[in-house]
Amino acid sequence: MPGLVRLLLVLAVGYLVIAGIRRLFLPAASSGQKRARQEHAQGADGVALVQDPQCGRFIPQDEAIQVSRRGRTVYFCSQECRAAYRAA
Ligand SMILES: [Zn+2]
Repeated sequence: MPGLVRLLLVLAVGYLVIAGIRRLFLPAASSGQKRARQEHAQGADGVALVQDPQCGRFIPQDEAIQVSRRGRTVYFCSQECRAAYRAA
């Protein structure tokens, strides 16, 4: 019987350790991703990047397909994304 109690104790401690590690690492990973996305808003060579609202990809502004809609400009990476966005 003491052996069973010890086994349960080890399992409980192991579960708490794993839960604590996951809580430590998961929020850090998601905030790191957000930071990386923001850094992508400016290219390494200083070219302004724009985001395709259809697929979410960042493309250099001078390579993007520009569409003016109700006074604001939207940028697309491809004609397919532009067509899909207009159809939506
Ligand atoms: Zn796209």
